[in-house]
Amino acid sequence: MLEIIKAPHPVLAQKAKTVKQVDKSILKLIDDMKESLDNATDPIGVGLAAPQVARGLALFIAKPSLKSKVFVFINPKILAKTITPKNTKEEQTRKLEGCLSLPNIWGGVKRYATVTLEYMDETGKTHKRKFTGFMATIIQHEVDHLNGVLFPKRVLEQKGTLYQSEKDEKGEDVFEELKI
Ligand code: ZN
Repeated sequence: MLEIIKAPHPVLAQKAKTVKQVDKSILKLIDDMKESLDNATDPIGVGLAAPQVARGLALFIAKPSLKSKVFVFINPKILAKTITPKNTKEEQTRKLEGCLSLPNIWGGVKRYATVTLEYMDETGKTHKRKFTGFMATIIQHEVDHLNGVLFPKRVLEQKGTLYQSEKDEKGEDVFEELKI
């Protein structure tokens, strides 16, 4: 299993390199990343980018729910994004995000409701697909990783608030505002 690295780490701040060929080493990396994601249980991980296991390659995996399969995205490129089909204010509310590379840090981020993504799957096939909802959020968070961007940067750009969580004596998470 590959260890998930924590910020600050140089690989997390770098732009990831294009995957030239989906060969054995890439497939092995994807398998190892799936294992690392499955082992992230507190908090539960819904996505993992290669830089988070210290590999500066443009690929990530996503698992939007415990029962869902793992989606693989290689060399992803966001072709289009829209705020929301209806464009109402409510639908642009911030949603709390966290990151396996930033344990116990949380923050509200506004993301686009829909993204059209071009990417390659693990068989080397290219796809162009539109994603909405939680998958769209995960994709934007992970594509940020491939550009060396961690979510607190988005929170601060959008003048949002960062929180730090701690376990209380009952083992429940307690949130406190993080002053920067
Ligand atoms: Zn992350």
